[in-house]
Amino acid sequence: MTIHGKVVAITGASSGIGEATARHLASLGAAVVLGARRTDRLDRLVAEIEAAGGAAAAARVDVTDPADLRSLVTLAIERFGQLDVLVGNAGISRISPIADLDAEGWSAMVDVNVKGILHGIAAALPVFRRQGSGHLVTVLSVSGLKIVPTQAVYAGTKNAVRTLLEGLRQESTDGVLRTTSISPGLVRTEFIDHAVDDPALHEHVRKNMADIGIDPMAVARAIAFAVDQPDDVEIGDLTIRPTRQG
Ligand code: NDP
Repeated sequence: MTIHGKVVAITGASSGIGEATARHLASLGAAVVLGARRTDRLDRLVAEIEAAGGAAAAARVDVTDPADLRSLVTLAIERFGQLDVLVGNAGISRISPIADLDAEGWSAMVDVNVKGILHGIAAALPVFRRQGSGHLVTVLSVSGLKIVPTQAVYAGTKNAVRTLLEGLRQESTDGVLRTTSISPGLVRTEFIDHAVDDPALHEHVRKNMADIGIDPMAVARAIAFAVDQPDDVEIGDLTIRPTRQG
């Protein structure tokens, strides 16, 4: 089975990379099951995908709540009979030097970016094992590959997940589970709007994103590439960044 006919759940599907991934995979014939907190946006997206002839469903998901991830997986099975892929895409960033001691922001990043992925694994893994197949795709960041000032904690959360996935991969060589880490560079989304309070820094990052950021569909295509592989092929890591990003 390639993408067509697969059932793909996506967290953080209400905007940016998650939304683009939902649209793209649905256009390629996947049934998409969308989770995020802004349900008005999810409902609009479901309606648009269905109007275009695709299959979609949505649920309110806060990835910091393990029960919400279980509900998302249950929705996939109830509506479409199975879950083939979970795209752990929901993520947040709070940009500031460590010396600013933004303990609240640190906790929020750990809760969403790390625990959110673990909650997804806990919800999906038993289903993947029962089915005899499943694919876990996570959206990490090149911030974890090129560590820069003000993004150390964010990078740390993304690299924690990179480590988790490698461990999970090594524990899963029986052919049931595939894992993929996608590391985008600057992508033109709403991401930065919630990441920076300082107006000057916000304007700097926003301008950089507007100048060189790539379309979220570029990341969606990379996710589709990983999902589209035959069962015995695992795409481990993909990096997608603007050609002009340093
Ligand atoms: P957006 O801000 O557009 O999307 C983030 C998504 O995450 C939204 O759908 C939001 O939905 C969801 N989200 C945030 N918190 C929660 C939560 N607690 N529970 C459920 N969903 C949540 O940004 P992007 O599309 O850019 O971000 C997607 C991923 O890409 C993130 O993991 C980010 O770290 C990563 N990334 C982004 C880059 C960029 O330059 N844009 C670069 C590298 C990586 P809602 O608010 O409705 O819950």
